[in-house]
Amino acid sequence: MSEQPTPEIVSDDVVVSLDYTLQVDGEVIDSTSGSKPIEFLQGHGNIISGLEEALYDMKVNDSKHVIIAPEDGYGQIDEDAIIDVPIEEFPPEINLQPGVTLQVQDNDGHVMLAKIVNVADETVVLDFNHPLASKELHFDVKVVGLRAATKEEMEHGHVHDDEHVH
Ligand code: ZN
Repeated sequence: MSEQPTPEIVSDDVVVSLDYTLQVDGEVIDSTSGSKPIEFLQGHGNIISGLEEALYDMKVNDSKHVIIAPEDGYGQIDEDAIIDVPIEEFPPEINLQPGVTLQVQDNDGHVMLAKIVNVADETVVLDFNHPLASKELHFDVKVVGLRAATKEEMEHGHVHDDEHVH
């Protein structure tokens, strides 16, 4: 394996280690504070597009406040993703309360999250929108490391680390 030079700035095909704090509506909802930074392969859509775009040309130890509009984050609310389901389709042991998030399996076996919006006599209204849809995202980010991607990571389009090697 040949030694690759350490990248100086965030650019495509560079593995970025990033500390971040995400605030929505003035509240911290996610942060790497007290845990390991996230690692991802820049330029491959591993993170939301608005954040990826803002990171180009940053150096190690650079930090930045990034405000991301919903369309560059988790999108707008899709009314078609809010659906009525007949109440008899739910097993009786399920707690059908508005605000509760359920794991729902589609016909292909994919597990999706849906929030219960309303429960009536015959129907339950489920919302499949991402919880951060329509939200403006406020990130505080700091680049804590840059390295060249391996050939295998380039082929896969994502980072391989202790948790993800295959
Ligand atoms: Zn892989």
